[in-house]
Formats: sequence, C-alpha cells, structure tokens
Amino acid sequence: MQKFEEMPLNESILKNVKDAGYESPTPIQAQSIPILLEGHDLLGIAQTGTGKTAAFSLPILHYLAKNPLRAAPLEPRVLILAPTRELSSQIKESVIAYGKGLHLKTAVIFGGVGQGAQVQALRSGLDIVVATPGRLLDLMNQGHVRLHRVEIFVLDEADRMLDMGFINDVRKIVAKLPEKKQTLLFSATMPPEIATLAAKLLKNPKRVEVTPQSTTVERIDQKLIFCKKADKYQLLRKILQEDSVELTLVFTRTKHGANKIVDYLNHHQIQCAAIHGNKSQSAREQALDNFKKGKIKVLIATDIAARGIDVQGVSHVVNYDLPVEAESYVHRIGRTARAGKDGVAISFCDETENDALKRIERAIKLRLPSENFVGVPEASVKSSKPQKSYRDPRAKPNGRPASANSEQNTLRPERSQRPAPARAQGQNQGAPRTDKTENQKTKVGFKFRNRK
Ligand code: AMP
Repeated sequence: MQKFEEMPLNESILKNVKDAGYESPTPIQAQSIPILLEGHDLLGIAQTGTGKTAAFSLPILHYLAKNPLRAAPLEPRVLILAPTRELSSQIKESVIAYGKGLHLKTAVIFGGVGQGAQVQALRSGLDIVVATPGRLLDLMNQGHVRLHRVEIFVLDEADRMLDMGFINDVRKIVAKLPEKKQTLLFSATMPPEIATLAAKLLKNPKRVEVTPQSTTVERIDQKLIFCKKADKYQLLRKILQEDSVELTLVFTRTKHGANKIVDYLNHHQIQCAAIHGNKSQSAREQALDNFKKGKIKVLIATDIAARGIDVQGVSHVVNYDLPVEAESYVHRIGRTARAGKDGVAISFCDETENDALKRIERAIKLRLPSENFVGVPEASVKSSKPQKSYRDPRAKPNGRPASANSEQNTLRPERSQRPAPARAQGQNQGAPRTDKTENQKTKVGFKFRNRK
C-alpha cells in the first residue's frame, strides 16, 4: 500500500500525520486522497471508524495551504456538515491536529450552546467551518455566515442526516452554496433520498467504497443474551464486573432508560454517566471526556448522542436495548474494535425484542451466538433452584433440551446445541439448570442474582 510520504501532501501535514502515529493510510484514505488532490468530487461509501475524517481533511488542508487567502469575515472557504455535535467537535479537533503549523482558522458550530462565541469566530474570519445543520442554518438566517465563497463542501454521514430529520436543513444549506466548488459526500448507506441528493450535488464524482461493516464486524466478538426485561440491570452489572471489561459503552433506546441505568449502577458503586439529547452540551462533553480519560469506565448513550463517538479502547459495547433500526446495530457495535483492536459486543434480548432481533440478524446476515440468562435470587446463589428465564425463541422446537446443553454453556453454541424453546418444555419453564451450569462461569458470568 502507498505510504503517506509517497502522497504529494504538504510537509507539515505529513509531519502531523506522523505525529498522530499513523503509519500507513487506511483504505478509504489511500483511495480518496489522490482523487481529492486532483480536485474531483467524491462519493464515499464509508462509515466512522474507517479513517474517513483524515481522508477528506488532509486534501482540504493541502489545498488551503497551497492556495492561501486571508480568511474573510463571515465567509468560510470550506464547509463540513456533520449530523451531531460530538462528531462535528471531533472533526474540528482532527482538522486542527492534521493542520498544525498551517495557520488556518477552524471553528465548530452547533446548537445547544450560546451562539455568541460562534458568531465571534465567524466575524474574525474562518478558513474551515465544521457545523451541524440546524445551528448553521440559524446563523445563516441571522446573517452571521454567508456560504457563497465556499470552495470545498463536505457532507458527512449523509444517511444519518436523513435519519435524524436534517435532510431539509441540508437542502436549504446546499441551495446557498456556489455552483463552482468541490463536493464530497460520505454515507455509510445509500437510501434513495441520499442517492437523489448525491446525484444533484456531485459533478462527475469518483466513487470510493470501503466495507467497514464487515471488516470491523469481523473483529468483534458478538454475543446475544436472552433475558427477561426485569433482569437486565443485574445482567449488565454482572458483565461490568468481569475482569476483561475495560471501557464499556452501553446503548439504550430512551433517554429515560439511560438515566435509570446510571442511577442503578451508581447505587452499586459503578461510576458511570449518560449522554443523550436532554443533557446539556457541557454535561455531554464532560461525560465523554471522563470516559475518554478512563475516569469513568461506563458510558450510557442513546443512538443519536453516540453517533460518531470515537473513543479508543472501548473493550465492550452492550446493547441494553436492541435498536429498532437494524442498521444502528452495526453503528453501535462499531464503537468497539476501533483502530485495529478487537472488541466484544453483547446484546440483550428480552421478550419484547424478537422482531428487532430478526431484523438485525437479517441485516448482518448472521445468526448471533446466544446464551440464556437465568436470574438467581440473592439468597440462593448457591442453590440450584431454577428461575424462570426468557429463552432463545429461535431454537428449533425439536432441538435438544437446554439441560442437555449445560455442558456446552459456551458463548458460541452450535445451532443444534441451542436450547429448546420454552414452549417445548412447558410454559415459561425453561430447562432446569443444573448446579454445574450455574457454577460454570462463562466469559460474561452467568451466575446471577434476581433483582428484587
Ligand atoms: P474516523 O473514521 O475518521 O472517525 O477515524 C477513526 C479512527 O482511526 C480515529 O481514531 C483516527 O485517529 C484513526 N485513524 C485515522 N487514520 C488512521 C491511519 N491512517 N492509521 C491509524 N489510525 C488512523
């Protein structure tokens, strides 16, 4: 593979890339950088985690270094649109790190904070603006920013913009951009609306596609645990107490659910914090910063808040609730196994989540290896008294009974070894667990107490 030094990039940029510890370009970088340096429009099918930020930032910085102009008030030369505050902040930080020594002015614009500092930065003149659509549009409408001098426009995570309902804002912003510009559009998927937008926006684009979903996913040890909804708290706590667990990102479907988990874990002396849309920007930044620095080992997040989060060293992702959209599953588990490392993704599936599971397995074309979780009452941890459990509904009715499976209580049972469904064994009974099963400790520890 081509090395960074072999790319015709500005010396300072090459040095900064080296300082960042990058040895060779990732596939999206190797493919995109030469195309962008030639000034082509680009359609990049890639998601966060592939190195796409550097893929677009390095050529942009090179262009600005090669074509210096004094930054004009209110009129940025480069606009990068990203769907969330976290992602836009991260992009800005990356741009600043890769562009050290080039004396370019970069700022980020997003909602949820006062606009004063952002307006001030725009007035002082910026080369690069990284923005979320809502606040940018707001500032445009107030006359604090004008886009007719934009030379390079990047639309990042276009499919997420659509999911999050920003696509109309994006269209309004795009309408204010000049005709002549270089445009880059990145998206992990190509729903029809994005394909239409891309066709309108891009002129003779070069297409670059990387398939991080499979490459990232391959490095992730994916597990599924069938459990009752009420047992999820203690199951999570047990997992978090495992030795192998370092930084863990826990996903919930709702903000309220995230808060409740924080209360529960804090009550059990597990330091954690939540990030979601109801938290102030400073609370979110603080939580993320504490998590990045390892001050807290557990971060609870909703999908939108977690989008684009890039934290090195996330050893585990826990899907406390399965995502409604199958695609979010891939985005969520991609928060682990970053930058070539391995990771573990554990998903809980309760009695209400079968349809979500089916959608996910269909989308990832994989049947997740499963375990059943049986809560054990506090007072009878050592007793073999079986508890009711929610069992793998996917097992074939004529599969072997779970008790026969106790010897193979591994995390990757073969299909034929999967426990029989509850129906086949009597309503809601599950198979009686033997002492041996309960005392066997699998990787995620299956000797739990029942929540009272
Ligand atoms: P991104 O997809 O841009 O969010 O990048 C994902 C992660 O990969 C970030 O932590 C980057 O710092 C890191 N990264 C980007 N490019 C490289 C590279 N060429 N070599 C190693 N790590 C990289």
